[in-house]
Amino acid sequence: MLYCAACGVKNCANKMGEEGEYPKGCPSLSEKLPAYLEEYQEPLELLMAQKSAVCAPDHSECRILKTIRFAKECGFHKIGLAFCVAVEEQARQVAKIFQQSGLEVESVICKVGHVNRSALQIEGSRNAMCNPIAQAELLNEAGTQLNVVLGLCVGHDSLFIRHSNAPVTVLAAKDHVYDHAPLEYLKHGDTDGK
Ligand code: SF4
Repeated sequence: MLYCAACGVKNCANKMGEEGEYPKGCPSLSEKLPAYLEEYQEPLELLMAQKSAVCAPDHSECRILKTIRFAKECGFHKIGLAFCVAVEEQARQVAKIFQQSGLEVESVICKVGHVNRSALQIEGSRNAMCNPIAQAELLNEAGTQLNVVLGLCVGHDSLFIRHSNAPVTVLAAKDHVYDHAPLEYLKHGDTDGK
């Protein structure tokens, strides 16, 4: 069982040369880790790992600007924007900001295709179904180099990520209660997990 979220040791996060003891069953002791390290030697993996390491330490930069910076550092010029109709105005603004920064944007809304939910045996609403697989496939066809998720619902984002050819980053996670900032629940909600 992997239990890092509950671990009070966090020896893995200590500075190099300041290591202490790892707890029993710690995954940092796994004999598979050298093989996982090898996976970074793939060109795209190495590029993204190196460039995200450049971008990550700057805590003065907001996520929109960091996304632009990461894309440019990686040489990703064509950006996919997979957004939810609930954040259509924000999508318009984000697309404009990306374009003004010199990036090319292909944007696709969740309702693309205007498909009746009955096609998936989902009843009880006249709303067109959300179509994350089509969002991903259309961006695949467009040849986007990095896809940005903006406000897709839980599960729809999973399907989008599963079908996206390009690497995916999440700009905002849908949360109707906390204005798309899900961790706010930890400050304000009943956190017993029910
Ligand atoms: S890797 Fe080991 S030390 Fe680090 S958080 Fe997980 S259990 Fe704790």
